[in-house]
Amino acid sequence: MGMRSDSREQAIDALRRRNADLELLYETVKDLNSTLSVDRVLQRLLDRTLEHLEAEIGSILLLGDDDQLRVMVAKGLPPEVVERTQMKIGEGISGHVALHGQPLIVEDVEAHPIFRRRNRERYYTSTLISAPLIRNGALLGVININNKTNREPFEPHDLRLLEAIAAHASVALGNARKYEDTLRLSQIDALTGLANHGYFYKTLDREIERSRRYERGLSLVMIDIDYFKQYNDRHGHRAGDQALVAVARIIGDRSRAHDIVARYGGEEFSVILPETTLDGAHAFGDKLRTAIEGISLDGGESLTISVGVASFGINITATSQLVDAADAELYRAKSLGRNRTCSPGSS
Ligand code: GH3
Ligand code: MG
Ligand code: MG
Repeated sequence: MGMRSDSREQAIDALRRRNADLELLYETVKDLNSTLSVDRVLQRLLDRTLEHLEAEIGSILLLGDDDQLRVMVAKGLPPEVVERTQMKIGEGISGHVALHGQPLIVEDVEAHPIFRRRNRERYYTSTLISAPLIRNGALLGVININNKTNREPFEPHDLRLLEAIAAHASVALGNARKYEDTLRLSQIDALTGLANHGYFYKTLDREIERSRRYERGLSLVMIDIDYFKQYNDRHGHRAGDQALVAVARIIGDRSRAHDIVARYGGEEFSVILPETTLDGAHAFGDKLRTAIEGISLDGGESLTISVGVASFGINITATSQLVDAADAELYRAKSLGRNRTCSPGSS
């Protein structure tokens, strides 16, 4: 009688637990699929998993292009450990799980034949479970959960749950990555490969903020091709496109690594020059102008540009003011006859 009721209670317990697991899984999946940023997917995934497995320490490592696993999010680990933790496939616990593509449970690290010494000092870990993140047969990374709050060892049941979470997380992660790639591509102008208008403004805001904070110079150069409509009319739109690519390349080639070159609009370009004075930016703009004047396009045709320059400073303290000021100088260059560079105070 007593035995029967025991086993019945056990069965009910098991069912209850299974139900809770399913609920957790459902919540986690819903959560993960509602966000599209890789960082946020990983953060939520880790938070939720730790919460439900009632554990203290966790980390998610992703595999980089260089075949190294790096910690992307972590909880309960010292920052310097997170910072420097990087491993090859096959190395350490994460590397082991990555190599074999199989989840791993270590009930007691101190008693484990392979992982014993290393982990005692590095992770303060007593018990852990780890699962690979795999999408379409490709390894994305590894999730590690260490130390239960109640100090009990992890059980196979915990591992199965982690495995199920990892499977769904891999899908969410794959989607978020694809979305971020698309976003990155959408910041690039398809014709010239330069940054596009949206990216230009975002970057300019950021650079202005930095310039303000560190009291460093910042200049802006606006470029507009002269009589480009005529060029199109004479040579066709396709030749026009090729000319835009050629001009973009010259601007890009002559810029420094941390200058930001953008296609501002149709036949308009802009260059953000961090840590550059007005004089320096004027000289740069005029260097571009002479370089473009000198090129020979299809059929020996040539083009010229007009350039407007402005600097962040006394009367210019906002993004829109800087753009307006450079635009006003560009307009001045046009009205003075084109193929010239104008900046405040220049003739
Ligand atoms: P201005 O010297 O005053 O700048 O004269 P403009 O003809 O360059 O100026 P306008 O703004 O009147 O015309 C710009 C022309 O640039 C219109 C369009 O034919 C051409 N254009 C803009 N975007 C593209 C593009 O993506 N490809 C090609 N082929 N032409 C473009
Ligand atoms: Mg124009
Ligand atoms: Mg033009």
